[in-house]
Amino acid sequence: MGTGHSWSALCMSDELLLNLDNYKQLVNIDKTNKTATVQAGIKLWQLNDLLDKEGLALTNLGSIDQQSIAGAIQTGTHGTGIGFQNLASQVLSFTLIKADGEKITLHKEDDLFNAAIISLGCLGIISELTLQVTDAYNLHDKTYTKKFTDIIDTIDDYIYNNNHFKMWWLPTSEDAIIFTYKRTSEKTNDSWFRQFFMDKILSVIGFRLCVFLGNIFPKLRVPLNKFLTAQMDGPLDRIEKSYKVFVVPEPPLHRETEWAFDVKNAKEILTAYRNLFLSGEFTFNFIQEIRFTKGDNFWLSECNGRDSIWIGAYNHEDKQWNSILQAFEKFAIQHNGRPHYGKEFHVRKEYLAQQYPKYADFIERRKQFDPTNKFGNKLMDELFS
Ligand SMILES: Cc1cc2nc3c(=O)[nH]c(=O)nc-3n(C[C@H](O)[C@H](O)[C@H](O)COP(=O)(O)OP(=O)(O)OC[C@H]3O[C@@H](n4cnc5c(N)ncnc54)[C@H](O)[C@@H]3O)c2cc1C
Repeated sequence: MGTGHSWSALCMSDELLLNLDNYKQLVNIDKTNKTATVQAGIKLWQLNDLLDKEGLALTNLGSIDQQSIAGAIQTGTHGTGIGFQNLASQVLSFTLIKADGEKITLHKEDDLFNAAIISLGCLGIISELTLQVTDAYNLHDKTYTKKFTDIIDTIDDYIYNNNHFKMWWLPTSEDAIIFTYKRTSEKTNDSWFRQFFMDKILSVIGFRLCVFLGNIFPKLRVPLNKFLTAQMDGPLDRIEKSYKVFVVPEPPLHRETEWAFDVKNAKEILTAYRNLFLSGEFTFNFIQEIRFTKGDNFWLSECNGRDSIWIGAYNHEDKQWNSILQAFEKFAIQHNGRPHYGKEFHVRKEYLAQQYPKYADFIERRKQFDPTNKFGNKLMDELFS
């Protein structure tokens, strides 16, 4: 297990869990070739700090930095930006300890590398990884709101004209919140006070208060969501270190499902998704997030063979959640989506077999690597037996 930040039952077991929290050293750094070798238990925030001290950085990051590097990579954890692949794509090679104790090193573009880099821990234990990193860089963050239907109409402009673009939507607000991050060599200008007050106090305590009020008085959810959206209409215009911009203020506990779809159908899918959430059947007390990533060749990657738009359903736990999840999954299957393994989903092996051309080959590899099912658990068996 990594940090245990997956919603799905990846790390549930009545047997033994192996925790690598203390296996977190930076083993080697090569500034000329911009590579870093780390032990698998290192958390992303620890890695960001270490790289920053060396004038280096990860090329992309998701919305939080609490995951272990191995845990994040094994589920296909991603950030946003159509020119950027998931975090696993930053790995050049890694060592894997198989069920029989044999330690092997897999290099990028090996067939086995593509099989094992996203494999939910069921091929073996990753012990060390060598990452391709980059020179430290700043991001020019422009955050503002715009009518959701207008964004859908011109969605390709947003996707392809920004290094990193993502959207937040608080249904049933007419407006969505747009985040664009441009890579820049300009100096940082974000103030310490703004970061502390907005990102640590208002966005954390203020948002929790709104969720709490919306739970006691569900009718308040719609006006509260409009109010929260309006708070983001600043607009925010700042330059800050990359890893500080990518990571969002700490969210309250909530439920989440997120699926990757073919980005070619972005307009049609976003329209159908908006209609589903505006149907009046559900109310939402949480931010819905929409992101984009470049396709890859990893056998089980949610973005295998296609550039992707990621759309999810998110809510603070309430009695509607199961129906929201059911409705969203039906929509996702209709649109040929693939679930994020680290989030909630109910499709099983038959569906995965249809979605992933190398699915049968992966099952064969799993039998060879772990013939006694040492790394299996209930969910692994439902997905990959
Ligand atoms: C608040 C929050 C925000 C999130 N934001 C994002 C986001 O922006 N983008 C995104 O894509 N996802 C996001 N996620 C999902 C998260 O990134 C994934 O679930 C990730 O896999 C969790 O990492 P972890 O270290 O907690 O791993 P765990 O959940 O502990 O484990 C995940 C998988 O990795 C395997 N594993 C862990 N360590 C090893 C190892 N050494 N060798 C082999 N296998 C191993 C485990 O067996 C398991 O199958 C978010 C989750 C939360 C809770």
